[in-house]
Amino acid sequence: MSDLLIFLAIFLSLTVGWLIGRYQGIFQVRHHSDSNLPSKYFKGLNYLINEQPDQAIHHFITLLEDDSESVELQLVLAKLFRKQGELDRAITVHQRLLARPDLSEEMRQKVHVELAQDYYSGGLHDRAEQLLLEANQHESGEAVQALLFTIWEEQKEWLQIIEMAKRFKSLPSSLAIRVVGACCEMSEAKPSESYSYLNLAEKYHAESVMLHFSFAQTHLREGHPRKALKRLKRLIMLDQSMTPVALPLLKRCFQEKGLWLTSYKEVLEDWYQVNPSISVVAELVSLIQKQDGKDAALIFLTEYLKIRPSIPGLVQLVDLHLKSEQEHDQATIKMFRNLCSQIIEERSKFQCQKCGYQSSRLYWQCPNCRKWESIRPVFGLEAE
Ligand SMILES: [Zn+2]
Repeated sequence: MSDLLIFLAIFLSLTVGWLIGRYQGIFQVRHHSDSNLPSKYFKGLNYLINEQPDQAIHHFITLLEDDSESVELQLVLAKLFRKQGELDRAITVHQRLLARPDLSEEMRQKVHVELAQDYYSGGLHDRAEQLLLEANQHESGEAVQALLFTIWEEQKEWLQIIEMAKRFKSLPSSLAIRVVGACCEMSEAKPSESYSYLNLAEKYHAESVMLHFSFAQTHLREGHPRKALKRLKRLIMLDQSMTPVALPLLKRCFQEKGLWLTSYKEVLEDWYQVNPSISVVAELVSLIQKQDGKDAALIFLTEYLKIRPSIPGLVQLVDLHLKSEQEHDQATIKMFRNLCSQIIEERSKFQCQKCGYQSSRLYWQCPNCRKWESIRPVFGLEAE
């Protein structure tokens, strides 16, 4: 017998007991209510005493159905059932609520979403989608759209999300970021229509890091490195922790512009000021080496490592030294270097800020908690 069932049965018995007390108060004034209620209540208690929580819950819920003010309470109960995987119970409570003629429109909408959530949790995605689309025709609430988006994201139906968004001039931020996600996915899937998707996304959420990244990618693909550079600078202004992610695109901007060394170094130095991540430092070190020689690069890197020690930084330091060491010393140094590289290879480079999910590559939508733009580079000894 599950502890939850016993807990729920006791909780319900207390609630129904309280309702009866309230009714009897009203009864004295209005001559209202079902005078059989106390005896029905005792029947439920009897189930509980006889260790039959299933029957007790069923019985108490039936009693609650007669009470017009218990709708919220039934919704909470059904949610508890769903969380415990008791989907049939949750669905029954919701269907019975929908059958009530006295249910307000606002509450009906709420129950629809909850019932759709039951179907969704049970893997009946089509049924959930159908129900939500019907509910959405009458009144489009945020909860309805949020669950529809979840279903479409799972099925990678990005166009459905975009079409729904087009019906609104603006969306709450929790939905807007998901529209941006859908647009970026479409931009990648259909490069010839990238700009139209990205421009649309910008109307809903212009501050999205993912959007600026996609714009930069598209500009580079279309041969506009200057525009790409603008987007990358904006991206770093919005989120300094993204320098390691933006760096490969930044490099391409300058390679394709032909302004290789000087301007590139300026931007790198700016990024170094806002976030001295090891990826940026590594790029700076190799530029310093090209411009001012190995000794200048060594001094720069050594000073950096004193302040921010990291294994990737150490590997670079070893690499610089390797170039000048005598051959007989190199074997030991190489072994040390390879060991460090192995540590770096095996680490997680990215982590979700919402659920802690770790990965070696960047996902704009967390594969674990499905949040958009929640994954960021990891900083620390073994990482950036
Ligand atoms: Zn996550």
